[in-house]
Amino acid sequence: MKSVDLLLLGASQVVTVDGGRAGPKRGARDMNKLGVVEDGAVAVHRGRVVAVGTTNEITSTFRGLRRVFCRGRTILPGFVDAHTHPVFAKMREDEFAMRCRGADYEEILAAGGGIHASARALRIKKQGELVEGIRERLDNFLLHGTTVVEGKSGYGLTFESELKSLKALRQAGRGHPVSVVRTFLGAHAVPPEFRRKRNIYVSEVAERMMPEVARQKLADFCDIFVERGAFTIPEAEIILKSARRHGLKIKVHADQFRDGGGALLAAKFKATSVEHVDATRKRGIDALKKARVIPVLLPSASLFMGLKHVPQARRFIDAGLPVALATDFNPGTSPTENLGLVASLGCSLLGMTPEEVIVAITRNAAAAVGREDRHGRIAPGRRANFVILDAPSYTYLPYRMGTNLVHSVIVRGREVVRAGRILPRKRR
Ligand SMILES: [Zn+2]
Repeated sequence: MKSVDLLLLGASQVVTVDGGRAGPKRGARDMNKLGVVEDGAVAVHRGRVVAVGTTNEITSTFRGLRRVFCRGRTILPGFVDAHTHPVFAKMREDEFAMRCRGADYEEILAAGGGIHASARALRIKKQGELVEGIRERLDNFLLHGTTVVEGKSGYGLTFESELKSLKALRQAGRGHPVSVVRTFLGAHAVPPEFRRKRNIYVSEVAERMMPEVARQKLADFCDIFVERGAFTIPEAEIILKSARRHGLKIKVHADQFRDGGGALLAAKFKATSVEHVDATRKRGIDALKKARVIPVLLPSASLFMGLKHVPQARRFIDAGLPVALATDFNPGTSPTENLGLVASLGCSLLGMTPEEVIVAITRNAAAAVGREDRHGRIAPGRRANFVILDAPSYTYLPYRMGTNLVHSVIVRGREVVRAGRILPRKRR
């Protein structure tokens, strides 16, 4: 008998999301193979998975210092949210109310709403004040089963405020159970003061912010919003070339409202992922497949904005691409930290299967943030991050729309959420 730190025993299902070729799961056949162990168990030692099997197999090989019985519950890999905007000064509920009462985007902008309102509010905040807000949001992610969050800057839009945003994100992540992957999104929008001299802002991002972000190692990724009203393809090329020169990996917000060639650009720059892609046509899809770029689809933003566009998940999956789903958590168009809800929308709005949505918020999402080596599946050698759902099968996750089924969350082999509450640090 081998002695290990922790045994999880008797789960009605352990969903490993393991197996198949290395990397994300591509296409319908692969994405529908989850790897489910009934009456499952997991052995954990020093924060890593040692073995997965049936409860009989595991108890005949391992003795656990601590044993957790998971009868009637389902164990999944910790969820990975591959696309969020968590660094902002305040929520925008007034703007939401205005929109519900019939105001259009122009009226909201005129009343001081939208992304520029977020920028104005953020610029006057101190780093420490931002950290507090981000920590609260990370707690919320954790309570919904998310153990890795990709977080972007992009509400500062000045040299000082973008750096402050990334530093706040780094500080908020320190000592928090949720791992944070940082993305520099200085090219989120052209700030109003540069409207008539866009090229100056583009070089500010490419020549001043980028080198400093890289020098201080403030981000793994650079992202850019390529869209009418945001950045053009030639502007994006300048910024992405600078990102590449400074060793940042690439993400692109593209084709949300119309196919403006953003997916082709992402493919050309061998981006790790491309985000939104609601309107991407066949040429773009083919290019993404060839360049092995992962589409990250954001259905909660579509839902919240009234379903004018819905990402075409089936076109990507049926073309053999790996698809990830994310919340797009932000104060304007998707104020939710709930990936379980996004999984429901993946099934109901995008035509995905329960198996595909689970893959899309675990293994494929981990690949979309460059953490596939550690996160996104339950397999020997991987980090022991798990979500334990109060449900007898994984199908309940997309089925119980909007209900938080998370019973407990384990990070590096330690229980950090139990019975829907974050445990105080000393008891972990
Ligand atoms: Zn976004």
